[in-house]
Amino acid sequence: MSKPRVAILGLGIMGSGMAGRLLSQGFPVSVFNRNPEKARPLAERGGFVQNSPRQAATGSDVIISMVSDDHASREVWLGANGALAGSRRGTLLIESSTLTVGWVKELAAEAEKQGCDFLDAPVTGTKPHAESGQLFFLAGGSDQAFERARPVFSVLGRDAIHLGPVGSGALMKLVNNFLAAVHTVSFAEALALIDAGGLNREKAISILSEGVPGSPMVKRVAARIASGDFSPHFLMPLMAKDIAYAIQEGSERHVDLGTATAALRIFQQALDAGYGGKDFTAVAQALTAEKVHN
Ligand code: NAP
Repeated sequence: MSKPRVAILGLGIMGSGMAGRLLSQGFPVSVFNRNPEKARPLAERGGFVQNSPRQAATGSDVIISMVSDDHASREVWLGANGALAGSRRGTLLIESSTLTVGWVKELAAEAEKQGCDFLDAPVTGTKPHAESGQLFFLAGGSDQAFERARPVFSVLGRDAIHLGPVGSGALMKLVNNFLAAVHTVSFAEALALIDAGGLNREKAISILSEGVPGSPMVKRVAARIASGDFSPHFLMPLMAKDIAYAIQEGSERHVDLGTATAALRIFQQALDAGYGGKDFTAVAQALTAEKVHN
């Protein structure tokens, strides 16, 4: 069976990895990025670079969006020359960015008017997982849309789970990320106390990593600290956005996410201190540097 033609909208850290993975597996891929510079490496690998989301959508069987936030998603789907206008009836639309439930539901309704199948399917995993086809898709939408997405998910991901109707993937992803963020800032605060108390950092990190607090998230931050490499796999402003969206989802359902609120405040301090171009795990660096200097 011939492979579906896939459009990838958004060639940031994740979208470029996903497009590259599809190209490496022989899929015909149309790509669009607002800043066209980022499309160049994919053109060299055989991607069809398009000037607008609408153009990328035209003639594609599956369209995947991987952009920053609700605003960016609205732009690429519904903006001037948005992808929805170029999608023919029956196209499968997959929104894989981390977004709010309200927005993906609105988008799904627009897709339905156009006669398209829609899934919200945000992912866990980061830069290396996107490049190597090891993402984990958290999907919301109809059974039919999920079944149609399987051939693409199986190339881009190690797994995909169908969580329920539209919005289920979005909500699950926000729950996942606020919890990961809380682990991260708790560990950062632990490090600040370790440093301030004069404990041996290496020994302390080893005790924490090997004991019950040593969640995969804590271990990942510990590895970043050991390497001193905070180049972005997942940019700090995007983690702050996810926490803010999770708090919003909580408040709409009368669930107070107190730990998420505290985590957001700490990420905001790091962003204000100029860490916005770094990986979110650099919050540990920001917090410890701040404590040492004060
Ligand atoms: P990124 O590297 O910052 O890329 C963001 C992308 O969004 C770029 O292509 C950017 O285009 C585009 N964009 C932003 N505003 C736009 C607008 N108004 N109109 C059109 N395009 C716009 O982010 P990323 O790490 O790839 O993340 C993408 C999404 O995946 C986010 O929702 C993020 O939360 C989620 N996610 C990320 C990770 C991760 O580990 N990185 C993991 C899971 C989920 P320009 O290049 O023109 O700015």
